Amino acid sequence: MFAAGHASLAGARVLLLEKNRRCGAKILITGKGRCNVTNNEPDVRKFSGHFGSGGKALLTALYAHGVQDIIDFFTRRGLPLTVERGERVFPTRGDARDVQKLLESFLVEAGVAVRCSCEVRRLVRDGSSIAAVETPSGIFRGRCVLVTTGGLSYRETGCTGDGYRWARELGHEVVEPEPALTAIRLAETWTGEVSDLNLRNVELRLMQEGKLLEQRFGEVFFTRNGIGGPIVLDLSNRTRLALKDGGVSLVLDLKPAVDPSLFDKRLQRELTAHANKDFRNALGGLLPKALIPLFIKLSEIDPEKKCHSVTREERLRLLKLFKELRLQVTGCDGFGKAIITRGGIDLKQIDMRTMRSKLVDNLYFAGEVLDLDGPTGGFNLQVCWSTGYLAGVSAAARVQDGTEK
Ligand SMILES: Cc1cc2nc3c(=O)[nH]c(=O)nc-3n(C[C@H](O)[C@H](O)[C@H](O)COP(=O)(O)OP(=O)(O)OC[C@H]3O[C@@H](n4cnc5c(N)ncnc54)[C@H](O)[C@@H]3O)c2cc1C
Repeated sequence: MFAAGHASLAGARVLLLEKNRRCGAKILITGKGRCNVTNNEPDVRKFSGHFGSGGKALLTALYAHGVQDIIDFFTRRGLPLTVERGERVFPTRGDARDVQKLLESFLVEAGVAVRCSCEVRRLVRDGSSIAAVETPSGIFRGRCVLVTTGGLSYRETGCTGDGYRWARELGHEVVEPEPALTAIRLAETWTGEVSDLNLRNVELRLMQEGKLLEQRFGEVFFTRNGIGGPIVLDLSNRTRLALKDGGVSLVLDLKPAVDPSLFDKRLQRELTAHANKDFRNALGGLLPKALIPLFIKLSEIDPEKKCHSVTREERLRLLKLFKELRLQVTGCDGFGKAIITRGGIDLKQIDMRTMRSKLVDNLYFAGEVLDLDGPTGGFNLQVCWSTGYLAGVSAAARVQDGTEK
């Protein structure tokens, strides 16, 4: 949508083909229905640094249409944005539907012809270029073709990996697509009992054979069969990799600001204050209500025991639950629940100054179909805006005078 609109504004006659009944289905589920449109990181190099080895290749796109440009794009068209924790930028009204609607209006404003319920089946090659695209409603010819078919996650939004197939058929290499930014599955059977609870300001450590692989601070929640939340998503890629080498565990620290010996003193104070009460009534000041039954169960302390008779050993067990709750990882969620797809069309065969294929003269790629994946926080959509813009204006320039600007 963004690429098509900008190609049209740059002077090309544009036809957008979308297989769903409406464009932008995935936008509606982004940011839990609130759409985290970008990350307010003004430093282009820092921004691109979030994309690992692919980051450098992104620089032209980010300079062409960066974070401030996308903020201006939305706000000038009447969608106020708000910067939240972690520099995440959301529509102030917090409704992803506003983003989808705005992009639809943008297509009208730019004069793009849109055909929905029109699935592209094949790109028809003629020598060194694409001559046409084939759909059940007929063949469409154009001077340039821009592929933005996304990845493989949440297939119901239309992402079935068609762009990868076409690219392979045209000689492009495709880095094996894998689910990325997913929840992590755990062996613990109790996770579903506390799945309604958001735990903020906690620390999660990813461990293998006693070695710390990575750690994050932020928000998590338990799910029916594991753990999710922003910091879990960001740890999931490393987790998936580490699992190939053996067992992996997560260690959750519910009180990362307090060191263990200080927190032990806090526990002692709490038990003394409730000395003649049952243990089950002593944890209210330390834990969210919903977690108390679980902690009593995991601590293996008799809930009816008076606090004054809780032993040192029992208290240390309790301390461990607060500071080092060990969770056994069994795997990560698959494409069905992945925020993005890792892997995709190899950047080596794309001229990243224009987003044009180095193998096929008039073929452009943008968005998630490319081998680029970043962390949560609005980074991934910004890459779609930036590469989409660059591909759109480059293709328009080529259509008009045979060269890209
Ligand atoms: C649950 C969830 C939450 C997310 N939240 C965020 C967030 O808050 N912030 C963020 O930055 N990123 C987020 N992302 C990632 C972000 O949504 C994607 O990276 C982004 O939408 C990719 O954009 P795209 O245009 O490349 O592809 P898509 O948005 O996937 O669009 C591809 C389009 O191509 C169409 N298509 C595919 N094949 C064909 C064909 N053969 N013929 C015709 N049309 C076809 C599809 O129907 C689809 O409409 C989230 C993703 C998910 C799944």
